[in-house]
Order: sequence, then structure tokens, then C-alpha cells
Amino acid sequence: MKDIYKRNSSLRILSGLNLEEIEELTSLLGASKFRARQIHNWIYLKSVKEIDEMTDLSKKFRDELKEVAQVTDVRIKVKQVSSDGTIKYLLEYSDGECVETVLMRFDNRANLTACVSSQVGCAVNCSFCATGKRGFIRNLSYKEIVEQVLTIQRDTGLKVTNIVFMGQGEPLLNLDNVLKAMKIFNEDFQIGARRLTVSTSGIIPQINKLAELDLQSTLALSLHAPNHEIRKKLMQIEEKYPMNKLHSALKNYVDKTSRRITIEYLLIKDLNDTAESAKQLAAYLKDIKCNINLIPYNPTEKNDYQRPSNNSIMKFKYLMEHSGKKVTVRLERGADIDAACGQLRGKVK
Ligand code: SAH
Ligand code: SF4
Repeated sequence: MKDIYKRNSSLRILSGLNLEEIEELTSLLGASKFRARQIHNWIYLKSVKEIDEMTDLSKKFRDELKEVAQVTDVRIKVKQVSSDGTIKYLLEYSDGECVETVLMRFDNRANLTACVSSQVGCAVNCSFCATGKRGFIRNLSYKEIVEQVLTIQRDTGLKVTNIVFMGQGEPLLNLDNVLKAMKIFNEDFQIGARRLTVSTSGIIPQINKLAELDLQSTLALSLHAPNHEIRKKLMQIEEKYPMNKLHSALKNYVDKTSRRITIEYLLIKDLNDTAESAKQLAAYLKDIKCNINLIPYNPTEKNDYQRPSNNSIMKFKYLMEHSGKKVTVRLERGADIDAACGQLRGKVK
């Protein structure tokens, strides 16, 4: 079989180019802006794998285009399909580094959500997360982030409707590339800004920067603890950006953007799932416009945390609802293929 992903460094990669950049390329070939628009549609809306699939371009023009460009150089190294329909891909970039990207479907909704990675590895190293265990390897470029969604679309033939930056890496430590990728998701994929969510472990200066930008996307904060002591145990980042300062940053974010924040709260048995924790959490969030998303801990190797019983999860949910917040429990997706939150490692086991 012909290898469509063969790497030829002299060829321009079309995926990740915006319309103006494609226009530059077509004008070099002496073709009109209309050709550029057609190519753009084939890349982002129809997600073709090869230039030859762009059937409204003449054979002659396709041949000329193939001399200077190819659709992608990202390879699907491993693809796993969960019994619940979640698909996890291990993708390989041209330098051999790999990341995971996950497609989630929910039975009763038309949404197709891509969970994308922003870095290879992660420097934040939270004690409960498999990604952090690898340390930080490198940032992904905005094109490499965009390629994750294009790969999903090319492979499934489906159009992604929602994107969450909840794969590997800390998006706010690679903010420039994340913002460029979001712009492309918005303008080129035509995914509404409100369908984009960036999740962070709480990098305060960058949260402030996002507040200034006043985007319509959703900010999710991985809080995971009701107080400084517990958060310190779970997340080293608490030393640098403690909860009291985070509180001011979150308030400022809501003031500036008028957007409701999502608070992510990992539930770990006997550690942060008690009635006292719920009380403290409610007090901390009292004056912050937010929804709460409870994430029952997913097991990863090398720590002794446990998932709480369904009973304690529901009790915690009830207590938080009582404080007047909207609370959801994150459905576990793809646990049988290690695609659930915190289980992404970015390498073949
Ligand atoms: N670095 C960012 C985004 C990636 S992690 C962040 O931390 O927010 C996406 C979510 O998965 C975060 O809320 C993270 O705390 C959560 N997560 C990490 N490890 C987990 C585990 N073992 N079980 C459940 N959720 C986990
Ligand atoms: Fe990094 Fe997020 Fe994992 Fe923490 S939870 S190590 S910030 S990816």
C-alpha cells in the first residue's frame, strides 16, 4: 500500500495552514484564490487524507500541488476503540515524539468531543496524573495541536463539534500555540468559541492574560482540593500558585469575561471526599460564578489513591448542590483503553 504519510521535508504540510497561507501557496502555482478556498474546505471541512481526493481540482493542478505540498505528516501509531465508543489515538509527529488524543461520544448527545494534548509530557507533575510522570519533553506547535483534530476527522469521517484541552500537558504553559490553535478551530473548523474548553492546573499569570483577552471559550480549573494543605499534597503547583491567590485570579477572570468557570474536582477516597471537604470547597467557591465537575479518580500506577464509592460520590455531589452550584459528575470514558482523564501517557506500553 502506498504510504500517504511518507515524510518529505521539502513538501509544505497543508494541515494547519489558514486561508491566506493556502492562497500564498496557490498563487505561487499561478492558481486563483478560489482554488485556495477549495483546498481549505477539503482540509478542514471534508478532512481528506490525500491531495488526490480533492476531486474538484483538475488532475493537472493536483499533480502540481503534490510537487510542493502534502496533506499531513502525522502518523497514527496506535488506535484503540473502547467498548463505550471512545477512540484513543497515539499519534507520531515528524520528530518521532508521540502524544495521545481522544474522541469521546456520548450516547444521548450529538456532540463529538476531541480531547487534545498541548505538550509532550508535562512539567507540573501532579501526584495523581500519568502524564506528569514522564516529565516535560516539549511544547506542541499550534499545527501539531490542530493535526490531532484533523487526524480524528480524517480517520472517522466525522466532524468534531467540541474541543477540550484536557489531554497531555498544561495548556497555559504553551499559551501562544494554544491560542493560535483555538483561532484555527474557531475560524477554519468553524467550531464556536463556546465549544472550546481550556483546562489548567492554575497558572495564575496566564489566567490573568486570558482574562484580558476576553475570549468566549470556557476556562476549566483543576482545583481538586478544598484547602491549601490537601492541594499541596496533590499538586506541587500549589506552592507556587496557592489557592488564596488563585481565588483572586478566578474572580478577576469572571469579572472581565462574564463567563462562568468550570471547577474540576478530583474525588479521591478519604482524602478530599469528606463532608468537611465539601463544606470548605463550598466556602471557597461561594463568590465565584462557576459550575462544578466532579471527577472520580481514575487509577494510574504508582500511587495509593482510590476511587470513592458511588455512594460517597453522590453524597459529595448533593452537598455541593446544596451550596447552590450546578454539579455534574464526569462520565468515565474509555477506561478500558486507558483513555480516561489522567491515564494518558503518550507512549506505547
Ligand atoms: N494540565 C491540565 C489539562 C490536562 S489534565 C490540567 O491539569 O487541568 C485534564 C484533567 O484530568 C485535569 O482536571 C486533571 O486533573 C484530570 N486528571 C489527571 N489525572 C487524573 C486521574 N488519575 N483521574 C482522574 N482525573 C485526572
Ligand atoms: Fe500536567 Fe494536568 Fe497532569 Fe497535572 S493533571 S501533571 S497539570 S497534565
